Amino acid sequence: MDESNTFESLGLSEMRLAAVEAEGWTIPTPIQTKAIPSVLEGKDVVGIAQTGTGKTGAFMLPSLDLVEAGKGLQVLALCPTRELAQQVAEDAKSLSRGSSLRVADIVGGVNYGPQIDALTGGYEIIAATPGRFNDHMERGNVDLGNLKVLILDEADRMLDMGFRPQIEDVLRRSPRSRQTMLFSATMPNGVHALALQVTRDAVWVEASPEGTTAEGIDELVYMVKPEKKAELLLDLLARPDWDQVLVFTRTKAGADGLRSYLDRGGVGVDVMHSDRRMEHRVRALDRFSTGSVRVLVATDVAQRGLDVEGISHVVNYDVPIDPEDYVHRIGRTGRAGAAGNAVTFVTAGDLGFLKSIEIRLGRKLERVSVEGFDYTGASASGSGGKRKRTRTGGGIGTRSASELSDEELAALLKFGG
Ligand code: AMP
Repeated sequence: MDESNTFESLGLSEMRLAAVEAEGWTIPTPIQTKAIPSVLEGKDVVGIAQTGTGKTGAFMLPSLDLVEAGKGLQVLALCPTRELAQQVAEDAKSLSRGSSLRVADIVGGVNYGPQIDALTGGYEIIAATPGRFNDHMERGNVDLGNLKVLILDEADRMLDMGFRPQIEDVLRRSPRSRQTMLFSATMPNGVHALALQVTRDAVWVEASPEGTTAEGIDELVYMVKPEKKAELLLDLLARPDWDQVLVFTRTKAGADGLRSYLDRGGVGVDVMHSDRRMEHRVRALDRFSTGSVRVLVATDVAQRGLDVEGISHVVNYDVPIDPEDYVHRIGRTGRAGAAGNAVTFVTAGDLGFLKSIEIRLGRKLERVSVEGFDYTGASASGSGGKRKRTRTGGGIGTRSASELSDEELAALLKFGG
């Protein structure tokens, strides 16, 4: 162990060190080690880091040390989704414990009243989604005059979601003397340009090389016919080590349908997507994180910022069309160094998407078959729970899926034979 890699050596205040200790964090993550001293020195930071790397601590801990109580809004974190903004606000609350600093989240879908109180009442730290925050700016509720730190979190996703005009507006209204941090899981040209535009002499830090996913995640691809996917999932869920499972579907209707199917199959399950009311989403997340349901079915909208400890498996029930979504989805498991599993269901029609993901990752994902599960037709036989994953045989003829070429698999998986 590197003896010098301690929170004490990063220059944080005693109060922040106490908060870190209360969180149970003993060693700073790589992005924290790199970013915290730079921010404390007054530098701008551009961080290439996905969720799960400790990036929130990396930007929030030093920001909190730069803030003075009673001087109005000084730290603003813009985040692409409500869930992420709420998570960042929660983290800011925990990490500011012991101080009189006030933290609020400003997100859409909830009442304006308490948000106006927080903004006009001079809360020092705000985590917000750009849409709602801009509403408040236009209504004259926001004073950015004392802003010290602006954080653009998950900048790639904010641009994807079309938030550029709102971000520009915040930039125009905030003091030039501010410090700016931009974090992004990926650095495509648009984000790179934004980073250069919003920061000055920034220190660039990278949590892991672009293109790789979080370490310690076992990734597997299950080749399956579309009509067999639900059955395969139920089968996998019967295994003893599938403790807390996050399942992604492509559509909201797909998420609802799968939830009903699993519910009928006796699995404790809830669902989270943007058509559900805020309180239902909050409740679903709560039930999932406290373990009162074992499975959460979600669409991509829900995945950003979802920070639940102990997710044993992420299932891409539908292959993500955008390879970036693959990286983000599987970042929900294997959090903070814990072991995790990511499983992707691939049908014949999905092979192109799978290829794109593999090109993006720069490596081939392992295909597996399940002993006793009939991929080729008819219905699955045998009881769930006892089936073992095999990488050496069974499932399809005498060869495992990983030994077949994609073309052979496609031929096998075509419905109707
Ligand atoms: P983030 O990448 O900010 O979403 O953080 C991912 C998870 O790692 C969160 O659950 C944090 O509470 C946790 N975490 C952040 N920093 C540390 C650390 N230094 N040691 C242990 N856990 C951490």
